Amino acid sequence: LQRNAGDLEFHQAVREVLESLGRVIAKHPKYLDSSLIERICEPERQIIFRIPWVDDQGTVQINRGFRVQFNSALGPYKGGIRFHPSVNIGIIKFLGFEQIFKNALTGMPIGGGKGGSDFNPRGRSNGEIMRFCQSFMTEMFRHIGEYTDVPAGDIGVGGREIGYMFGQYKRLTNRYEAGVLTGKALFYGGSRARTEATGYGATYFVERMLATKSDAFEGKRVVVSGSGNVAIYTMEKILEFGGKIVACSDSNGYIVDEDGIDLALIKEIKEIRRDRISTYKQLKGNGARYIEQGSIWDVPCDVAMPSATQNELTGKDARTLVKNGVIAVGEGANMPSTPDAVRIFQESQVLFAPSKAANAGGVATSALEMQQNASRDSWTFEQTESRLATIMHNIHDRCAETAEEYGSPGDYVLGANIAGFVRVAEAMDALGVI
Ligand code: NDP
Repeated sequence: LQRNAGDLEFHQAVREVLESLGRVIAKHPKYLDSSLIERICEPERQIIFRIPWVDDQGTVQINRGFRVQFNSALGPYKGGIRFHPSVNIGIIKFLGFEQIFKNALTGMPIGGGKGGSDFNPRGRSNGEIMRFCQSFMTEMFRHIGEYTDVPAGDIGVGGREIGYMFGQYKRLTNRYEAGVLTGKALFYGGSRARTEATGYGATYFVERMLATKSDAFEGKRVVVSGSGNVAIYTMEKILEFGGKIVACSDSNGYIVDEDGIDLALIKEIKEIRRDRISTYKQLKGNGARYIEQGSIWDVPCDVAMPSATQNELTGKDARTLVKNGVIAVGEGANMPSTPDAVRIFQESQVLFAPSKAANAGGVATSALEMQQNASRDSWTFEQTESRLATIMHNIHDRCAETAEEYGSPGDYVLGANIAGFVRVAEAMDALGVI
């Protein structure tokens, strides 16, 4: 704790995993040998750097950049880059720590890492975004590589930013190393279905979880928080499965549309205009309401899909959702529910899909992008999505079976933590004390 003083989100993430491990240790005391658990909690490497760049007014701006290379027992470090003013080392460590177990759950050969900057992209011109991305990569390029560390996108980093970073990497290294970043556009080495993968994957997971109760998304009222990459493609797949989306949000407020959210309009606002969600009401007119601030979780629903950011769903929100009859919660964002909220859902028999399992579809498809880059191949959308669906079903089943094996059937938090931990721990054990 002392070594990570003040890193509250990191403490929260570590505590949640460690609380699940008692039963594994009882069964396999060898995991207490060679300080394996202490080693897993300590990043292999942490890089913090200055990012100087020039804004449109000619003023030099300074931001701070981070890359935490947490664990490479299973493969090269893999995890996204986040650009958001709230980013600090504690946030990046929490995300990197979660990423280790998430990546292990995919069954693919990828280690865990995460990076980012406290840069706020909101309101910045295209030129400013490009210069910032170039400056970020000017330091980061020396720490990454196809066999070392393969970053991707996260909050504030989408296809445009990945493109600018890849361009600068190529220029600095004089190597067309497509496998160094994932989330690339199709025409220079990207994978079909990567953009959709996290949201689609979370939906596949929850559909499978509902099926254990002979239920499905068909006819359900669903609330999805956020309106970024994960939220948009969660909504798209839920609509395909016959659900009705009644609310979504951004950091300023949320919209409610009892006719069902018009997803084409959301895409137009967010992906093309890069505007605020409040414009939905102006453009849609009748039927839609916009609520500034407030909690989106006040909107009654059968299924809740928090897909914006960490700790966005509190104990109070969880109680409201339960009172309003929620039957399932699927975490698209990383750690969006506070520990209180998770406890309330579990005590209330709500089906609860934790982020490290439910949102693993993004990184899994990134690993598929790495496979395509390595073999200089490009798969069809159908082929890639069908791999994604199989991976998500496998993750679901592994979590469910592990929870059952360790005496808590239906506890996906326990199942995900133990299944992820065991795979990493076995690899670390085999590699010796390094
Ligand atoms: P985007 O930047 O595309 O979208 C983020 C959305 O969440 C926006 O609507 C944003 O609103 C909102 N948001 C962000 N921060 C806050 C905040 N502090 N309070 C309220 N709302 C906020 O990011 P993604 O969709 O890629 O990521 C969303 C979540 O999913 C994150 O937790 C991320 O770590 C996780 N995730 C993403 C993956 C991916 O493949 N992209 C993979 C696995 C997990 P605004 O525009 O107002 O800021």
